[in-house]
Amino acid sequence: MGAPTPELAIDLRSDTVTRPTDAMREAMAGAQVGDDVQEGDPTVRKLEARVANMLGKEAAIYVPSGTMANLLAIKTQTQPGDEIVTHEQSHIYHWETGGYAAVASCSIRLIPGERGQFTPQTLHRNIRFEDQHCPPTRMVAIENTHNKGGGHVWDLNAIDAIADEAKALNLRFHVDGARLWNAHIATGQPLSRLVRDANSVSVCFSKGLGAPVGSALAADAKTITLARRWRKLLGGAMRQSGIIAAAALYALDHHIDRLAHDHAHARLLADAITECPGMALDPLDVRTNIVFARVAPDEPLETQQKLADELCGLLAGEGVGVLSEGDGRVRAVFHLGISTEQAKQAAQAWKACAAQFVGINSPGTSR
Ligand SMILES: *Cc1c(COP(=O)(O)O)cnc(C)c1O
Repeated sequence: MGAPTPELAIDLRSDTVTRPTDAMREAMAGAQVGDDVQEGDPTVRKLEARVANMLGKEAAIYVPSGTMANLLAIKTQTQPGDEIVTHEQSHIYHWETGGYAAVASCSIRLIPGERGQFTPQTLHRNIRFEDQHCPPTRMVAIENTHNKGGGHVWDLNAIDAIADEAKALNLRFHVDGARLWNAHIATGQPLSRLVRDANSVSVCFSKGLGAPVGSALAADAKTITLARRWRKLLGGAMRQSGIIAAAALYALDHHIDRLAHDHAHARLLADAITECPGMALDPLDVRTNIVFARVAPDEPLETQQKLADELCGLLAGEGVGVLSEGDGRVRAVFHLGISTEQAKQAAQAWKACAAQFVGINSPGTSR
């Protein structure tokens, strides 16, 4: 039970690969359940109340995935023909099958910025003016922590500045908080403070928290009531879902504080990568559980991508799973399935594999 795949003894491809622990499985087995689409499932209700409370919102809804949580946030707070604004590297834009367009009938405006973040000034510049030629900009979404931004954490004053600007521009403000737990541990700020001015927040239980399934959307009661209807329409209303909600409740009790270990393990790997000639960390400051690195950063992108794929292959041969991101970067993500000993082994394996590239890099790439 809970054993990782033998081929990848140290699986850093994502924090979604976690298996429920024995204690989590016990909590699931003992869960009280009911029909959540009829009278309600008591464990799901408990989870929804708990999440709403932790995030300081009126209500929350349990959903199968983070993708559905974000989609419900967009669908319930926009009208067809509206425009939403996200960072150009946002998960909503890249990895959610274009649900904002396919289901919510919204266009998306993508804005640039360092490490997945942007400023109120950039936001302001990307708002449509009021005119019959333009779709009305209705919503802005930020991602905290930012996945493609290297697990980067938003500073509180930067979040507050975006919230103020959103309010001034009469926009709904959504936080994609799939890894908000990691931002909470990295900053020491209460979860509710991190999302104080957000109209809606999505959170995932199935990432670093280690639950097998599930996410939630929290917002005002009216938005969540509407989200229940759309969840049903999308086929996301579940019956005795207390079985899986129990895993999320267990994770909230036992797996938040331990995220600090994942952050320390990511730091450990990052430090090892910094010592590898010809490799660059991207971005340099690893703040949470995600590490991005490039082989031969001064080479053309196609070469970087080829080398990144090769590095992934070499590491897999050593039993270390990492992902080639497709943009020349290699990604490693830490989670509760990885011990400190395994993090050290991964760092050693990385050094050994990266050493094989030295010499094929052009001069000047060593650092
Ligand atoms: C994983 C993730 C999601 C949701 O993903 P699902 O796989 O649908 O649960 C949303 N946003 C971010 C930033 C994520 O990392």
